[in-house]
Amino acid sequence: MIQLKSVREIDRMAEGGAILAAARDLLEQSVRPGISTIELDRIAEDFIRSKPGAKPSFKGLYGFPGSICTSINNEIVHGIPSKKRVLRDGDIVSIDIGVLFEGYHTDSATTVGVGEIPEQSARLLDATRRALEAGVAAARAGNHIGDIGAAVQGVVEAAGFSVVKDLVGHGIGESFHEEPQVPNFGKPQRGTRLVPGLTIAIEPMVNAGRADTRTMPDKWTIVTVDGSRSAHFEHTVAITENGPRVLTASAQPRP
Ligand code: MG
Ligand code: MG
Repeated sequence: MIQLKSVREIDRMAEGGAILAAARDLLEQSVRPGISTIELDRIAEDFIRSKPGAKPSFKGLYGFPGSICTSINNEIVHGIPSKKRVLRDGDIVSIDIGVLFEGYHTDSATTVGVGEIPEQSARLLDATRRALEAGVAAARAGNHIGDIGAAVQGVVEAAGFSVVKDLVGHGIGESFHEEPQVPNFGKPQRGTRLVPGLTIAIEPMVNAGRADTRTMPDKWTIVTVDGSRSAHFEHTVAITENGPRVLTASAQPRP
């Protein structure tokens, strides 16, 4: 069942989303060669818990051990922060963050280059970011879930990359994962109709090579089958009468 939110509930989600965005900005600035992913996890957890009423959504969610997910290079999502995973020059790292604030979750991800990254990786990050923007722009009342997927897929495939089909975005609110599913592929005017009050996580996961995925023996980390790199960008978005409202936007967007 889809849980539509009132304007008041959406405002509360935006407060949590602002905390999340500040944590995400802090982590982007913290990424550098030599830092481990467990250090990023601690920075995120300390920051989020320093805000009254806020805590990391992921800690313990389905038994996940971290406060954030950190997925390096060929890892698509759900990488577990570890002191053994040290970022190196040329890596890309996807950082996925959830914040629970006063009863409501928000969810956002970014992919960051570590030092100097290969040209193809830079194009992958750029295409995935643009795919998210296109998906958000399609998140308008009167459109359908398929319009979001079609917009994301169009940008990704025009850039020569593949959308991951095994993993999807989702409704979000009092539960972290709510209906409906939000695939990163689809056809315009298909699927659930978008109405004001719907809050969804739009999250393109894009592989430089083939779309196929597999799960590592740790039962969490999902990687590309062909070893190609993967990027992930995500925002929590509310459908409103006045168009899409990004609830996890940075206070001061960086150029
Ligand atoms: Mg996420
Ligand atoms: Mg999500």
